Amino acid sequence: MWRLPGRHLGRFGRQLRSQHALAGLKEGSEVEGFEVTQVTRVPELFLDPVVRLEHKGTGAQYLHLARADDNNNAFAVAFRTSPRDSTGLPHILEHVTLCGSKRYPVRDPFFKMLNRSLASFMNAMTGPDFTVYPFSSPNQKDFHQLLSIYLDAVFKPLLRDMDFSQEGWRLEHEVVGDPNSPLVLRGVVFNEMKGCFADPQARLQQDLLSHLLPSDTYAHVFGGEPLCIPALTAQDLRNFHAQCYHPSNARIVSYGNFPLGETLQRLQEEQLAGFTKQTPVASVPREKRWTEPKRVHVTCTPDPLGAATNPEKQSTLAMAYLCGDATNVYETFTLQVLSELLLGGPTSVLHRALIEPGIGDGFAPCTYFEAQTRDTFFSVGLQGVAEKQFDEIQDVTKNALLSARDKGFDSEHIKAILHSMEIGAKTQSANFGLNMALGILPSWNHGADPVECLNLSANVARLRKQLENEPKFLQNLLDQYLCSNPHVLTITMSPDEGHSEKLVQAESKILSDKVSVLDDSAKDRVLELEIGLQKEQMKPSDTSCLPTLSMSDLNPEPQKYICNKTKMGKKEIPVHIFPQPTNGVTHFRALLDTSRINPQLRDTYLPLFLAVATRMGTKKNDYRQFDRKIQLCTSGLGMGSHIIEHPTLNGQFLDSILLSSNCLDRNLGKMMDLWKELLLEPSFTDRERLETLVRATAAEVANGVAYGGHRYAMLNASSRLTTAGSNREKDSGLTFISQMKQFASMEKEEMENTLNKLQELSSILYESGLRCSVNVSPGETDSALKQLESDLISSLPNPAFNNMYRKNELIQDAGTKSSQHHVLPLPVGYLGRSIATGVPYLHPDFASLRVAGQLLSAQYLHSEVRERGGAYGSGAVMNASGNFSYYSYRDPEASRNTPNVFNNSASWLLNPDNYKAEHVDEAKLSIFQKVDAPTAPGDRGMSLFLSGVDLEMLQRHRQAVKSVRVEDVLRVAAKYLDQRENPLTMASSLIGPPSSDLDDSWEVLNG
Ligand SMILES: [Zn+2]
Repeated sequence: MWRLPGRHLGRFGRQLRSQHALAGLKEGSEVEGFEVTQVTRVPELFLDPVVRLEHKGTGAQYLHLARADDNNNAFAVAFRTSPRDSTGLPHILEHVTLCGSKRYPVRDPFFKMLNRSLASFMNAMTGPDFTVYPFSSPNQKDFHQLLSIYLDAVFKPLLRDMDFSQEGWRLEHEVVGDPNSPLVLRGVVFNEMKGCFADPQARLQQDLLSHLLPSDTYAHVFGGEPLCIPALTAQDLRNFHAQCYHPSNARIVSYGNFPLGETLQRLQEEQLAGFTKQTPVASVPREKRWTEPKRVHVTCTPDPLGAATNPEKQSTLAMAYLCGDATNVYETFTLQVLSELLLGGPTSVLHRALIEPGIGDGFAPCTYFEAQTRDTFFSVGLQGVAEKQFDEIQDVTKNALLSARDKGFDSEHIKAILHSMEIGAKTQSANFGLNMALGILPSWNHGADPVECLNLSANVARLRKQLENEPKFLQNLLDQYLCSNPHVLTITMSPDEGHSEKLVQAESKILSDKVSVLDDSAKDRVLELEIGLQKEQMKPSDTSCLPTLSMSDLNPEPQKYICNKTKMGKKEIPVHIFPQPTNGVTHFRALLDTSRINPQLRDTYLPLFLAVATRMGTKKNDYRQFDRKIQLCTSGLGMGSHIIEHPTLNGQFLDSILLSSNCLDRNLGKMMDLWKELLLEPSFTDRERLETLVRATAAEVANGVAYGGHRYAMLNASSRLTTAGSNREKDSGLTFISQMKQFASMEKEEMENTLNKLQELSSILYESGLRCSVNVSPGETDSALKQLESDLISSLPNPAFNNMYRKNELIQDAGTKSSQHHVLPLPVGYLGRSIATGVPYLHPDFASLRVAGQLLSAQYLHSEVRERGGAYGSGAVMNASGNFSYYSYRDPEASRNTPNVFNNSASWLLNPDNYKAEHVDEAKLSIFQKVDAPTAPGDRGMSLFLSGVDLEMLQRHRQAVKSVRVEDVLRVAAKYLDQRENPLTMASSLIGPPSSDLDDSWEVLNG
């Protein structure tokens, strides 16, 4: 997403001038009701000026980060919202705030704006002690429109009872409107939190926070404990809003090249002028330090993917150490460095102590240094362990920390970590400004100096100096906060077969308590409310008060880039060069053809190979030495599967391996040496290392199902349609997860055999077709090309990768419908359905199908699946694979009503009364959000290099989308999506709990 290249003076001349005028702002001067309290700059991030202001009437705090060459402008307003109980008050308020405001009394203005804007980001997030509403947009008119909507939403939301019952919780009949059907508890956040805590590791992270910081706000579940949510009322919500969402309690950040004056003026005139000062919410107090460590045990549901490697080893143990004051920016920085020394990569202290010996499967997700809470903390968790190992793990951890304290750290390791931080700060991400704002707000919320938070290089320099004068500085820090710190929590978690059942019983107890107190008139009121809510949800909402962009606000052409193509070496390897303002960082990518790999190796071993190959070491360097080298001169070596369908020809696809890495320009030669070493001298001999990596990967991917279940469901459905889909599933779908589990449970001998297979695979790779690309600053292209040729390409035997595409077979006959239910012990389901349309990206019908998907998502599925069905999300999407897919996310109706909603989608599209030309235009705009999304300099041109889509093709697609009309949608819906008229090639996959609602056409697969 996000920003424009440098030096576009023509287009941004006006803004540049106004920034210049702003540079005249003096501390103490006044602008639009604000007093300027600080004017400075941060040259390393090209922020000039950085301005802090305070609103005179209310005390609202404001920080502006001006960056002349970035038009992906960002804005965020945040409030201190410290919960006093576990009803999920701040989280539900965040949802209901987005359900309409005084000036924009539209149900769900945010969702509506998703279709009327070019925003590169729109969202709202609740944290343990603050709530933030951020957005970004590269279009100035859009930015101001969104600004008005965001400000009105947070300062003047309607907070209606009905919205509370929809988003928070409500009692209603299972069949809405039928007084004879049983009463149930429903609500968006209620379901969301049940879904969230279905993941044992998410539950553990919450419990860890609550027990480590038990005396104030962190003791409570900020997102909402599902069983506590039904205690909350709409009035509680309104009281909390009045107290917290007030300008006096607000911190605001803006970023980019749009004029600050206009933003401040809008803020003052539309909102702040009408408020007076009130006492802001107090900062969270520091936690009182313990004099003794504590220990807590919790239970969870068994592993969602069934008995993993070892049914005895299903427990997790975590140790958390309370550290320093989050407002101390430098100390927090040094603790981050320390935590990298302890946890980052295979040479770190705790990796060597806990992961290498195979004590558990891998680090648990709660392994990190947390700097967002008022007191920072360090936490390390190990998952896939047995209960009887608990004491041993604690001892091993403590001893490893003591030994590091006494022996000290390798200076090369410290150097490597500081290098990683430097390259991380320099590498421009797609949403640079937004990420910066979100990075600053948590510590600023506690009272840290936000400008100091931006100054990474000052902190690096200070630490280097400190280490010169005080070589044991980091060891002393380790001693203070970890070795000699009594404020340590050990939290353990083990599965309990009865865990889910207990939750179900507790929920039905709450339900029956609620129901038993209802007299007849109260029951009538429940019925009345649910019918009212349903009516409201069915009612087409009048969005005329919302602003919108129109087709004429779109850029006439896509963002341009220059691509120089050349061929290198004796084998004439194709190389694409994209000169871009990359901030001193070189971005390298290469594609390797997989067509020489035999099918058995491809299917069984390539996914594993991709997961481990860069971490096994080489013949020259063992994996630790190799990892250190990677960290000293790159941002990491990436290897993954890259599968893409031909943009114009149906039935053709590219199956390849993508190598990618970035480095500071000066390190390009060294980075090329590393790739060369990896390709020419790979080493797959270290069985223990492979076992470690396999265990860790299996644990990691299994953790992801609860978060990305809809993607897994769509991948799985598509895998039964085409070869390309089937390969994608093997590389990254449910099949990948189960295969990783199989590898993780292998005996020694099988593992040795696996090593041989990986070695065999690696020796095919340097005979595989190769093509490369480089994104680098214009002044560096010549030297980058020389290094690429001399240090990599001239030494590789690989031929050129020219014939890229191969046949993409249809696996399933038209008219057969394959439906699979993958049973996993999750509380709610994820449904995916894919239809193979055979329509490639540049086919005339592709744009119309893409618009149809967006129309369905916004106008039909959102109200049916999310608002009425209680799912957290849903959608329909046409993608470049030629598959038209539907999905639902954390969906309590995934096995009941949602399949019918998907079935009825085509009929809905075929009824022209359901939408008008303006809805089609909205769908097009939201497609343009993606098509014209700002791109980071290091990623520009990748649609050409990776997908074969050049600027001319992209422009053709843009034109095709712009010209889609209602008739086109009707036509493609009849031709490709209507199963009554056509034998569709279609597959559905449901991931979720056992269900008795599915008919016999579903194949049920366990685990
Ligand atoms: Zn939420």
